[in-house]
Amino acid sequence: MLAPSIVGSLPKPSWLAAPNMLRAPWRLTGDDLTQAQDDAVRLAILEQEQAGLATVTDGEVRRRHYIWGFLDGLTGVDTENLARARSRGGRYSEITEVARVIGPVERKGPVLLDACCFARHATTRRLKVTMPGPMTIVDSVADEYYGTDRKTLAMKFAAILNAEARDLAGAGADVVQFDEPCFNIYLDEVEAWGIEALEACMEGVVAKRAVHICYGYGTPAVLAWKTKNTDWGHYGVTFPLLARSSVDQVSIECAASGVDLTVLRELGSKEVMLGAIDVGTEEVETADMVATRLRSALQHVPAERLIPCTDCGLVPRSRQASRGKMRALAEGAAIVRAELQSRTRNAVTVS
Ligand code: ZN
Repeated sequence: MLAPSIVGSLPKPSWLAAPNMLRAPWRLTGDDLTQAQDDAVRLAILEQEQAGLATVTDGEVRRRHYIWGFLDGLTGVDTENLARARSRGGRYSEITEVARVIGPVERKGPVLLDACCFARHATTRRLKVTMPGPMTIVDSVADEYYGTDRKTLAMKFAAILNAEARDLAGAGADVVQFDEPCFNIYLDEVEAWGIEALEACMEGVVAKRAVHICYGYGTPAVLAWKTKNTDWGHYGVTFPLLARSSVDQVSIECAASGVDLTVLRELGSKEVMLGAIDVGTEEVETADMVATRLRSALQHVPAERLIPCTDCGLVPRSRQASRGKMRALAEGAAIVRAELQSRTRNAVTVS
């Protein structure tokens, strides 16, 4: 009950890549890089365990970027020579640098399987592996090869993601999560084909099936948009659709957004990964602040279905802040768990 987890990413150690920088290049190459990434994964898992998290990830420290880390394992995608395109509906910036689709996109072999097996052997806790969702991938590439519509391209990526997800579940991933921040942007497309593409990703996957839907990383451009934004009604459109889907867990941003928590009721019987940690600030929440956020959510979701979580990835934060935030998350969850248990004991005594 109230078993905490992070969305996925953690900041990389400065000996691996430059800190506080999205898509930072690696400091090492070849075997040196592989060994350094192995070490960084061990540390990422250890820090989550020491913080008291129940489900851990490899911190995504083997990926320069959460989308490219997957695309790099496929043919036909160039993440070095970038194109410039309008992305995320122009919400955060008019033009963004994006990877290019330049040939047939194929998965010649597993992409994240070795990383998953490494992490599986490094921890006895529940393991989550994350991948970019098909709508978010399509919104993050310039298609210079297929010249097709977004849905067709998304379904192509969904088939590839599904093959990968089945392999990851087979290798012991307890949770397979698809990151779909675009579900908070293209509401018409979510209904028209986004859910269908997500279902195609999850079909036959024997693990907890999760989707992460946020309002973007804690980067300056995103934070600038959030401070101006007044419409937080997106979940109200997507949750009823997700409630009817085969997804098990929905990860949402509640700490830094203005989302009205009554919307959680629209998720039906799904498990809720509730963002109770703001990833856009270095200021570390207190355990009491986290506990207050969890109590608010418990007005709308039973404790059995509530998973205390971060709003989004912690990669833009310092390692120190990220450690503090993970501890606050686990301690806040422990406070509320103790309250619920003592309430149950009292009820038993009275009856
Ligand atoms: Zn996110």
